[in-house]
Amino acid sequence: MREREDKSVLTEPRCPFCRELFERPHDVTTDLGFFQGGSCRCGAVYAYDPTGRNLGEAFVDALTYACNEDWSLAWGLVPEEDYIQSILSYNLRTHRVSPKQGMTQRGTTGKLIFIKLLEGVTE
Ligand SMILES: [Zn+2]
Repeated sequence: MREREDKSVLTEPRCPFCRELFERPHDVTTDLGFFQGGSCRCGAVYAYDPTGRNLGEAFVDALTYACNEDWSLAWGLVPEEDYIQSILSYNLRTHRVSPKQGMTQRGTTGKLIFIKLLEGVTE
């Protein structure tokens, strides 16, 4: 039983930066339409890619959302210097993450890309 509990902790949907539980991705309206994602109380934002194959698109959605849709700011950002990112394997149906890369069943698990702007970027 212990082992089971430990496993369930590992798959809890927690922000990779602050370890807070995050909400199931919901439709976020932007100037260009909407994407599925959300934001964490630590300031990180996330975008959901149901296929795991359109990470570029999810990344742009999350990054511009993090910049309050300021595109010129978003395009000028330097990874690791201005923001940090993390990608989780995530199952929207069960609202669980997969602790191990490559352990996901094909077709059932998408990706969540988390982006957090570092301090001072938007000031
Ligand atoms: Zn967070």
